[in-house]
Amino acid sequence: MNYNISKDFAINLDENDNLRSYQEKFYFPLKKNGEKHIYLCGNSLGLQSKNTNGFIQQELEDWKNLGVEGHLHARNPWLPYHEFLSESYSKIVGAKKSEVVAMNTLSVNLHLMMVSFYLPTKKRFKVIMEADAFPSDIYAIESHIKHHNINPSQAIIRLKPRENESNIRTKDLKKIIDNNGDEIALIILGGVNYYTGQVFDMQEITKLGHDKGIKVGFDLAHAVGNISLSLHNWNVDFAVWCSYKYLNSGPGSVGGVFIHERYHKSNLNRFAGWWGHNKLSRFKMPETFNPIKTAEGWQLSNPPILSLAAIRASLSIFDEVGMDALVEKSKQLTSYLVFLLENIQSDRISIITPKKRGCQISIRVKNGNRELFDKLTLNGVIADWREPDVIRIAPVPLYNSYYDVYSFYKILEEIL
Ligand SMILES: *Cc1c(COP(=O)(O)O)cnc(C)c1O
Repeated sequence: MNYNISKDFAINLDENDNLRSYQEKFYFPLKKNGEKHIYLCGNSLGLQSKNTNGFIQQELEDWKNLGVEGHLHARNPWLPYHEFLSESYSKIVGAKKSEVVAMNTLSVNLHLMMVSFYLPTKKRFKVIMEADAFPSDIYAIESHIKHHNINPSQAIIRLKPRENESNIRTKDLKKIIDNNGDEIALIILGGVNYYTGQVFDMQEITKLGHDKGIKVGFDLAHAVGNISLSLHNWNVDFAVWCSYKYLNSGPGSVGGVFIHERYHKSNLNRFAGWWGHNKLSRFKMPETFNPIKTAEGWQLSNPPILSLAAIRASLSIFDEVGMDALVEKSKQLTSYLVFLLENIQSDRISIITPKKRGCQISIRVKNGNRELFDKLTLNGVIADWREPDVIRIAPVPLYNSYYDVYSFYKILEEIL
């Protein structure tokens, strides 16, 4: 599309946007004067959809009226409640329904998956991860390595961009695998790097790993609900995600995991809990753990229903819209944003997000000068600053408009 920098152009794009009506289905934080903030931070915390309240109220009512009976007799019985999310989750990550389950939060799930998929031996004990991985992932992975009495500095291979580049090349990963493949136990990368917004070639990376007998998992915190995923067909071993970023399910809400079906009947090591036990005998309280032969077999506890209710509210919107339509608008929104940013004549900012991206654009600020970000905030833009020098901007296709992008550009241009 040929973009131009006029305000009318943005308005016209909004008028032709098939997903436009969804903007009305979300609450936007308001400024003191009652105007909406320009919210470009869905990569950090998604907005509340207006149907969330109703979904949570239903469970509060059933709890109020039924007490413990709600496990079986609530309108949406709590006993199988997590199952109500599986189909939507499976569509979003490209999996079979049996391969996904809503449970825990991301860091917890990463630990559980490491228990099953990081099985170091004397010879094969290394882990490949992003040099700038999200800190929680670094802590979790290091702690597992130490748990196996291995020194993390000898086990972790940190994948870096080349000098003067911002993104990781699959080629460089391949070289590491070619040279050290026999020593590597696990590759764990973000589907989308949280800092640069780079989308990894998950299919290619999984294949490269598997060819050398390496397990491959992804942290989809910034990928789920943002980009097209086909975890099953890509043969990914496992993946974990949270639901409060692009999936708009509220602060700290329950996340999810994907475990490829080839492991469901295996006797992979795992940490167990009663919710992962065979449903037919769970309440007979047997002493021997007999796992459900699906991803559900990795559950530990009975889950927080109020949180799952918020996720269901959000997923009902994703079911309606579908990832294809979201991805299509996302591409338009970000190319438009990039076009506008490139139009600004200033050496104070540069875009570090590559073409293979979701809806996040990371803007590197010269000398890590945070003042620019603070001024954006003062002017009503909600975005986020990541040390040492990046502003992350995420126009979310579900609820952001082209006019939001345009308004952000105008404010940034004026500050610069
Ligand atoms: C947001 C995020 C997390 C958050 O982990 P929680 O356990 O949900 O607090 C973890 N990893 C990445 C890459 C993230 O972006």
